[in-house]
Amino acid sequence: MTIRFRLDPEKPDERALAVAGRVLRSGRLVAFPTETVYGLGANALSAEAVARIFVAKGRPADNPLIVHVASVEDVRQVARMDHRAEALFRRFAPGPLTLVLPAREDVPENVRASLPTVAVRIPAHPVALGLLRHCGCPVAAPSANSSGRPSPTTAEAVADDLGNAPAVLLDGGSTALGVESTVVDAVSETLTLLRPGGLPLEELEAVAGKVLLPETAQLLAHSPGTRHRHYAPTLPLFLWEEDGRVWTEVAALAQPEEIGYVGLREPPFPCGAMRRFPHEDAYAAGLFATLRDLEKCNLRILVADMPSSFRIGRALRDRLRRAAQLS
Ligand code: AMP
Ligand code: MG
Repeated sequence: MTIRFRLDPEKPDERALAVAGRVLRSGRLVAFPTETVYGLGANALSAEAVARIFVAKGRPADNPLIVHVASVEDVRQVARMDHRAEALFRRFAPGPLTLVLPAREDVPENVRASLPTVAVRIPAHPVALGLLRHCGCPVAAPSANSSGRPSPTTAEAVADDLGNAPAVLLDGGSTALGVESTVVDAVSETLTLLRPGGLPLEELEAVAGKVLLPETAQLLAHSPGTRHRHYAPTLPLFLWEEDGRVWTEVAALAQPEEIGYVGLREPPFPCGAMRRFPHEDAYAAGLFATLRDLEKCNLRILVADMPSSFRIGRALRDRLRRAAQLS
C-alpha cells in the first residue's frame, strides 16, 4: 500500500517529510510535487533503487533521468560544475532549469542511460526541497506518470497511473507551472536547448546569450529520451493551428458533442466538452490535467488550440505536438 500524506504545499509537515526521506534512503520510491509536475523519486546513488523507477513507469532504459538536489553546492554530489553552470544555477535555481553536465563516476549507469553526462536540477517547491533535505541524498526523479502518458500535475493523476508503486505519495495539490523543466546541454561550448520548458528561452538567453536550437537528428543523439512517445492521451488529438483547417477534418470525423476542446480561443462551434484558459500560463498549468479529464468524458476526438511560440508557449507547442504524436 502507498502511504499518502496530504501536505500544505507552502508549509509541509516536517514529520511526513522525515518519513518520506527515510523511505527514499532505504531504496524505495517516493512521489512528490515540484513546481513543474509530480516526480517519482529514488536515491540517485543506488542503481537498485533507480531500477524500480523504470519498472514502475514502464520507462525505456535509454531515457535518462533528471537528478534533483537541494542546493547549488549539492550539484557537485553528482556532476562537475564549471563557472558557467554555477552562474546559471545561481541565477535560476531553485527553478525549472535542468542542466546536462559531465557526470561523476559514481552516478549509476541507469540514471544516465550509460551517457557520460547527467541532468541536474534544483526544484522550487517547499515539499521537494524539504524532502531532499531530509533524505540527504540526490534524488533521481522523472515525471510520476506511466511512460508515454500526460505528465501528472495532481496526486490523483500519480495514483491513477502508478497505483501502489510509490511507497509514499506526498500530496501537495496541483503543481503551479504544469509543464516540465527546460533542459539545456551545458557540456559543450555553446549551450543547447534539449527540451523547452518552464523557464522561458527568452529569460535564459537574456543572461546566457544565444542558446542553440538543435535539429531533430542532433537532438536524438544528445537527448535519447526525446525519441519516445510522450504525453499522449488515450483519444486522438488534433491541433488547431493559426488557420482553422483542422475543424473541417474534425467535423468530418465526429459530431460536435463527441469532440473535446482545450485552449485559449473560442472554437468555431460548441463542442461536447470545452476547457478554456484566459492566458498561456494558465493553459500550461492546466493542459495535462485537462487531457486526463477529457479522456473520461465519453468523447471520440480531442482538439487543442496551438499557442504562440513565445515564452511558455514554446514548451506548450512542444508538448502538444508530441501529445498528437507529430514529433
Ligand atoms: P522526464 O524527467 O521524464 O521529464 O525527462 C527527462 C528529460 O531529460 C528527457 O527529455 C531526457 O532525455 C533528458 N535528459 C536526462 N538526462 C540527460 C542527459 N544526460 N543528456 C541529455 N538529456 C538528458
Ligand atoms: Mg516525463
